[in-house]
Amino acid sequence: MIWLDSDSPLYRHQMNEAPAETKRPRVNVRRPDVMELVSAEVAVHFHSSIVEKLRDQGGRITVGNTTLLLAEQFGFCYGVERAIDLAYASRRVFPENRIFLIGEIIHNPDVNRHLREMGIVSLPWQEMTSGYDTLTEDDVVIVPAFGAPTTFMEKVAERGCYVVDTTCGDVMKVWRRVRGYAKDGITSIIHGKANHEETRATASRALGEKGEGHYLVVLTLADVDFVCDFIRGGGDKEAFFKRFAGSHSPGFDPGLHLAKVGVANQTTMLKSETEEIQRRIRAAVTERDGDSSQFQVFDTICGATQERQDALIEMLRKPMDLLLVVGGYNSSNTAHLVEMAEPELPTFFIRGASCIRSLEEIVHYDLHRKEEVTSNYAALFAPEKPVTIGITAGASCPNNLIEETIFKVFELRGVDRAALGAE
Ligand code: SF4
Repeated sequence: MIWLDSDSPLYRHQMNEAPAETKRPRVNVRRPDVMELVSAEVAVHFHSSIVEKLRDQGGRITVGNTTLLLAEQFGFCYGVERAIDLAYASRRVFPENRIFLIGEIIHNPDVNRHLREMGIVSLPWQEMTSGYDTLTEDDVVIVPAFGAPTTFMEKVAERGCYVVDTTCGDVMKVWRRVRGYAKDGITSIIHGKANHEETRATASRALGEKGEGHYLVVLTLADVDFVCDFIRGGGDKEAFFKRFAGSHSPGFDPGLHLAKVGVANQTTMLKSETEEIQRRIRAAVTERDGDSSQFQVFDTICGATQERQDALIEMLRKPMDLLLVVGGYNSSNTAHLVEMAEPELPTFFIRGASCIRSLEEIVHYDLHRKEEVTSNYAALFAPEKPVTIGITAGASCPNNLIEETIFKVFELRGVDRAALGAE
């Protein structure tokens, strides 16, 4: 296996994430000549001058009776930008090779479409299929920003492929923590979605270097209360395994493996919820043992997620009639922004401008029903009524999609894009 990201070896050294043995010299996809071309290409695909302009003028614009507010922080994070750059660079460095990607580079359909158009083929990430056995030494495999489970990395190493690893450094920090837990005989309780790529990758590291570790993935406060009851006084194992099917390490025994626990979280979870989970588990351990010495915690929510959540909290203090949250429906950090806003004002989780069908109708993702729905929001959006619309977006949403959303909102309200200062 050949590691291609020039900053990867140092990162891996720092993160205690040793690469498999390198048989051939490492190839640097971050060559200045390549990155110059990549920056230009990425800018054409995802940049927006109007979004930058609005940002520079404080994130607020009013034309006629329509006001639009942008959150102070939204859209692409550093980890996503890096992952996209590396994927684009791979195509330029390996114009003739087959290039594969484990799952999706990030959770945004528009970004993933661009990679498909560059001939980058997505491999299944939920399970190791026979397709992995057909990889050859000439193939390039891109690891997404979420990382990939150790079994996938081992398989790609076994096939001898070139590997472009775009795993975000913030995700690798979580891996270092759960590996440390495993080494110390501490079970990782991971706050996350058991079927999310990042959590799957993290869970595999929680098994430790020698497979000695254990983990349990919890998602809701109800899950946590169930676990806390078990910590305090045991319980019905059958009910435990039914509730956490597919969310625990092989051989997990709640009677044994909840004795020493350490909490970590998927980097994109809701901060307030993660803190509450930490508090409840610590309280349960303390109640059982008389102190919290068998409990550890390490807050692994990433800076970018935190900034976007903080910016939304700030934005929600301002008067708004409705909020549009733009992003891929499978994006965890975007969904949390929606959860935060929903109790405060009418909030619509949209993929992009095409979801805003008219002044009456909007297509959006309903987090509770877990499906796309169509709503009538005419009462909020009536043209004669002054309206203030907020827009934010998750870390995987490019600015061009936010731009299209801004244009669509104003267009429906009878405002030409030229009036917004669009070039
Ligand atoms: S959301 Fe956070 S962890 Fe994920 S890629 Fe961005 S910076 Fe990295």
